[in-house]
Order: sequence, then C-alpha cells, then structure tokens
Amino acid sequence: MTDAVTQDTGVEGAEEPAALTDGIHLVVDALKLNGVETIYGVVGIPITDLARLAQASGIRYIGFRHESDAGHAAAAAGFLTQKPGICLTVSAPGFLNGLVALANATTNCFPMVQISGSSERHLVDLQRGDYEEMDQLAAAKPFAKAAFRVHRAEDIGRGIARAIRTAISGRPGGVYLDIPAAVLGEIIDADRGAASLWRLVDPAPRQLPQPEAVDRAIDLLSGAERPLVVLGKGAAYARADEPIREFIETTGIPYVPMSMAKGLLPDDHPQSAATARSLALRKADVVMLVGARLNWLLGHGDAPQWSPNAKFVQVDIAANEMDSNQPIAAPLVGDVGSVMEALVERSKPGRINAPAQWREELAARSAQNVTKMAGRLKAAETAHPMKFLGALQAIRDVLKDNPRAYVVNEGANALDLARNTIGMSVPRHRLDSGTWGVMGIGMGYAIATAVETGDPVVAIEGDSAFGFSGMEIEAVCRYNLPIVTVVLNNSGVYRGDDPSSTADPAPTALKARHDLMIQAFGGKGYQATTPAEVATVLREALAAGVPALIDCVIDPADGTESGNIAHLNPKGITAKH
Ligand code: ADP
Repeated sequence: MTDAVTQDTGVEGAEEPAALTDGIHLVVDALKLNGVETIYGVVGIPITDLARLAQASGIRYIGFRHESDAGHAAAAAGFLTQKPGICLTVSAPGFLNGLVALANATTNCFPMVQISGSSERHLVDLQRGDYEEMDQLAAAKPFAKAAFRVHRAEDIGRGIARAIRTAISGRPGGVYLDIPAAVLGEIIDADRGAASLWRLVDPAPRQLPQPEAVDRAIDLLSGAERPLVVLGKGAAYARADEPIREFIETTGIPYVPMSMAKGLLPDDHPQSAATARSLALRKADVVMLVGARLNWLLGHGDAPQWSPNAKFVQVDIAANEMDSNQPIAAPLVGDVGSVMEALVERSKPGRINAPAQWREELAARSAQNVTKMAGRLKAAETAHPMKFLGALQAIRDVLKDNPRAYVVNEGANALDLARNTIGMSVPRHRLDSGTWGVMGIGMGYAIATAVETGDPVVAIEGDSAFGFSGMEIEAVCRYNLPIVTVVLNNSGVYRGDDPSSTADPAPTALKARHDLMIQAFGGKGYQATTPAEVATVLREALAAGVPALIDCVIDPADGTESGNIAHLNPKGITAKH
C-alpha cells in the first residue's frame, strides 16, 4: 500500500492532488508483495527510513551492530526457510562488510539478497569524491551469484523480482541489489508505482531428472558391492527428508552425512557410517552424492581418501557441478526431492540391495571406533582443568533432552569436536562454518535461527570464533532471543599456551571473560569450570528461554593447531606445533 506521499498543487479549486509514492515505499511494497517477513540490517545513510517504513508496514526489522552479522543472519534465514533472506546495508563500508556474508552465502548455496543503498551515480562514476563513494555493483559482481542496480523508481519492482528469482532458483545463492539514494528518494505517481510491482509465480520450480538418467544411476548402484550415499547440506536445504529416508532404508545403502546434513536421518540410525567414515570413503565402489560437492571437505574425491576405482553418482541441481573433480558416471541433474522420488519409484521392487557383508564390515569398524573414542570421552569427564570433550559431553547430554534446540557451531577444535560428539536427530538443526570453514557466522546464524523458528538455539563457539561476531550478543539481548551461547574458552586461537618470544602476548593468545560481556547488555552470564557445572547452567538457561552466555573455562593446553585441517597450514622451519 502506497499512501504516505501526496502532492498539494496549491491551486484553489484544483482537482484532487495526485497520489504519489517514492522509492522507499516501492521497495517495502515489493518486498511485502513477495512474502518477505523479516529484514536483517544495519541502518544509516541512505536506508534508515527504509528500515523504519518496513517495520511500520509489518515487516520485522532486526538491527545488528555489524553488517557481516546481518548478512550471515539473512543467509541462515534463507537456508532455513527456502526463501531468500534479506540483508539491508548502507553504502560503501557497510556494503563491503555485508559482502563477506553475501559471498559466503553464495559459496554455501544459501539464497539471500543484499539490498544496499549507494551514493550518487553522477558523482561516483566521475570519482568526484562523494560521501561513501564506491562502484558497489562492480565490487559485488565477482562475489555474488548475480548483481543488479536499479536506476529508476519504476524499476524497483523489477529489480526485486529479479533478485529474488535469481537467489532462489536453480542453485541458490547470494544476489546483490544496488539502489542509489536518489532512486530511494525519487517520487513518482502512486498508480504507476503500484502497477510496476509484481509477485513471483513459482520462484523455485522443481527440476525433474530424465528417466534414463535415473535408470543409469540405479543400474550402477544395483551392481555395487560397496555402495555409499553421502548426504550434503543441499539435501538438507531441499527438505526432501521423506524420499531420502525411504531410498536409504529400502536399499540398505550405508550413508555418511556432511555436517549440516546431520539429523536428516538421526545420527544413531543403523545405516549411518559416520563413525566408520574413513573406511567407508576408502572402500566404497559406487558413491552417490546427494546435495554434496566433491570439494576439499571430501578430499576432492581423490585417492588415498577414496578408492581410485570408485564410481560416482551425483544428485545436484547445478549441471555444471558434475565432473568438477571426478568423472561422474551417473549424473542426476534435478532438485533433490524430485530425483529422490524418482529413484524410490524406479528402483522398486528391490532393484537395489546393499550387500550385507559391506554393512557388517562398516558396523564392525564403527563399533571399534566407538570403543576407542569411549576411552577419550571417559578420561575427559573428570579431567581438570576441563577439556573440550568434557564440556561437549555435558552439552550433548543436555541437548538430548532438548531436541527442539538448534545448534550453531564454529571454531577450530570447537567445531571438529562438537560435530563428532553431538549427535543430531532432527533435520536442519545444525548450522556451522560450512563450505569455507569460515569464522564469524556464529551470532548471525544464531539470531536468524531464533527469529525464523522461535525455537531455542545453542551456539557452540570457540573463543576465537566468537570474537568475530561477539558484539551481537547485544542484539540477542535487545530482541530477548532464546539463544544460549556456549564459549569453549581455552584462551587462544587453537590453544592458549603458546609461548611468546617478546613481551607481547603470543599471536594466538586471547584473554576474555565472555560471561561478563553479556551481563553488560542485561543477559545472563555464567562461568563454568567443570562438565557438571556446564550441564547445570545450560539446563537452567534453556529452561529460562532468555539470552544467556556460558563461558566454559577450558585447559589452555587442550586443542590442536587448525583442528582437523592442520595439513592445510604451511609450516616454516621454526614452527613448534
Ligand atoms: P556439503 O558441504 O554439505 O557437502 P555442499 O554445499 O558442498 O554440501 O553441496 C550442496 C550442493 O547442493 C550444491 O552443489 C548445490 O548445487 C546443491 N543443491 C542445493 N539445493 C539443491 C536442491 N534443491 N536440489 C538439488 N541440489 C541442490
């Protein structure tokens, strides 16, 4: 509805003044028309009034302290809702801060739109030195799925339609939409403005696979001696939980979930090969990737992590993902839901049966690995100072009793150890550092998760990772969100006992009482030094449903440099760890 601006002609006896609208109203109207319910942003010139009007018009506006966090929130909202999350930023520096999140969303295949105000084109393009001058469209292009700029108020509806459609269709990603201040302030006839907006029809159409492609995959899988399914976050995003479960259970194929696909089937499912992952990857002869890429997280599909003779089936909406690392013997291009339904249908009755011997081999290795791990877990239960695994077992036990709670997780050791210690039983309840292994997503993801779902969130953070978005605990408190942030605080990046060669602290050293930080904003702060304390205060905080932070004091000597990916860290001749 556009009604705020009317023109007084000032002429006595003249006709009714023409109803007018402006760019700001048109942006809000276009977003509402397309079902946008929440905007994540940081206000400032030239978008403050846009945020005010959005809020007054019934869109929820969540204000952040830093644009990266607002952007990460929008990305997480996109992952959780299958609708592009909207991030609103100011020109130049604010835009650039948000761009980190837009690039991260694109890499993770999360749908999101960053709408940024920008400075005046006639000044920017001649580089005359405007306030926050920058050619934002050019800057955004390499980092986004697509980037658009609107030059006339009458094109706002078109720009928003194009941005939403592009973000959500095919492989989802981040789209940049540049709206210069002059366009936001441009006044046009209200009827013309209203007629320029439209609502998208079927923004993310299903993409069905070819029947012969489905049969090719079934033939390959049915002849396999050691088949394996790898579930990725594309499968989680697709919300195809039922056909995925049916396919896996009726074929008996063991599966390995990537971290954000944990919970698609409960982690204690008998066909989960997560605890025999290395063996499963190394010996599988036919591997079906479902919404998962053969990128660094899967060793690019190379030996020795994989069998050099392994054949790959890949289910992906992006045709050009096929063959990006290994030959794909059976490409299944389509949306995960449609492909899995077709596989279930066309593999009946019993065309695929995973050999029992293979399942037994993996189960035996799982049992061995679980026994080995049990010793480490047991030792950590009583260790003092507290170890990562001591705190994480306490968190695991509390989460078991709170299955509705979402988990956000980032860090190095905090990520690796939490991923393996904390089982998930519900789909899409784990959000983490993702494809880039990025730090800084924590509070943004947690805030969006609480806002979009209304459910409690436990953010398990390394102390270093938390620092990137820690100021957002103010936003958590301001909006009174049910987020419990658990900081695994070993006083350092990786670990806290690195010696320094000067009077300054070591490059990896950190020092903070994070529980005191949240108290400054009115939240509940706890310090915990034993697993029992962690469990008690986490239970209390979850039951209260209010913003809380638990600073877990972890042994500074506990932690490995770079966690599980130390091999990616070049070592000089003086390196100690
Ligand atoms: P993970 O890190 O969990 O292994 P990736 O992010 O590497 O997962 O892979 C996700 C893949 O899922 C991407 O290649 C993306 O194109 C694909 N994808 C995303 N949404 C869908 C969908 N609805 N249907 C099919 N594939 C999808």
